[in-house]
Amino acid sequence: MKEQLSRLKPYQPGKQVDEVRREYGLDRIEKLASNENPFGSSPGAKQAIEKGLTELMIYPDGHAADLRGKVSRFLNVRPDCLIFGNGSDEILHMVSRAFIEPGTNSIMADPTFSQYKRNVIIEGGEAREVPLDSEGNHDLERMLSLIDDRTRVIWICNPNNPTGRSIDRETFISFMERVPKNIVVVSDEAYSEYVTSENYPNTIDFIDRFPNLIATHTFSKIYGLAGLRIGYGVAHSVLISELEHVRDPFNVSRLSQAAAAAALDDQNFVRECAERNAEGKKQYYDFCKETGIHYFPTDTNFILMEIGDSGEDVFQYMVRNGYIIRSGSALGCPEYVRITIGTKEQNAAIIKLLKDYVSCKQPS
Ligand SMILES: *Cc1c(COP(=O)(O)O)cnc(C)c1O
Repeated sequence: MKEQLSRLKPYQPGKQVDEVRREYGLDRIEKLASNENPFGSSPGAKQAIEKGLTELMIYPDGHAADLRGKVSRFLNVRPDCLIFGNGSDEILHMVSRAFIEPGTNSIMADPTFSQYKRNVIIEGGEAREVPLDSEGNHDLERMLSLIDDRTRVIWICNPNNPTGRSIDRETFISFMERVPKNIVVVSDEAYSEYVTSENYPNTIDFIDRFPNLIATHTFSKIYGLAGLRIGYGVAHSVLISELEHVRDPFNVSRLSQAAAAAALDDQNFVRECAERNAEGKKQYYDFCKETGIHYFPTDTNFILMEIGDSGEDVFQYMVRNGYIIRSGSALGCPEYVRITIGTKEQNAAIIKLLKDYVSCKQPS
């Protein structure tokens, strides 16, 4: 095993529904731990998969030409500015594979999405982690100050997981202007469709001006296709061609490509999910304000809240009551819980349980 692997903890996923059902002997369990879409996915995606079932023996198109054409028209970017991955996770992985090696370093926030650090360590690089500010935002000035001539990649999670905070357009541009052009900046925009803050940057407008910028997007969150694993990166065609060197030939399955293309066509579904999510956010904000609970205003479909003083205790309490949420302990903020915003009914049921918890009326 590579020496650096012993410094890593394997990814700790949210609890699986079946696992909890067995462990706790519960009939009904709802999982709001991994920011999956509580409203499912577009019916068109299912139809596209059914249509694709007759061609399972054929390798996928490694170039993803159909989907590439669709995404290119949807975003109004040239087709050669796109790269597709087995989830946007794979795009993040490709960036580290292509640019990180022993002796180099990479800069990221803390806490942020755990895969950035993991991939950097696996490639033998140094991960320079910069604590978020007290409002849960990236400390971009501090991140800039850590750049040296061995820095290869800077990871920006916009909006940030797990705090849900986003970076505005002016701040982002001013940051990009100060990053040397030989350093790749990843803007992970897995939740961009949920953003309600004004002045969220459309980074795709900047890929000519900043050829070292790559934005990553996913079909796992608002498009509701997490089970299929498909995402993409958008960057200057030169950066894309560099990443193509490390992309596996058939990395995205036929069914995933077909379903993603159909899901992209259904922007009504996307809009509706974003609207319902904004309403769900309000349910949680009202609850937090009413009870004086600290929370981070969120631009995503999850919310990070400090309920009591141990996220783990809240997690255990919620599981006993049939709801899987995420304790902050595995996310780098042990006092907090991260809850995926669900349907109106799910949110109301969870808030009711949390109210009982904070007023110490919890059963058992
Ligand atoms: C969920 C998530 C992803 C991963 O998405 P996939 O496309 O499913 O791999 C990437 N970044 C962040 C911040 C996420 O929360």
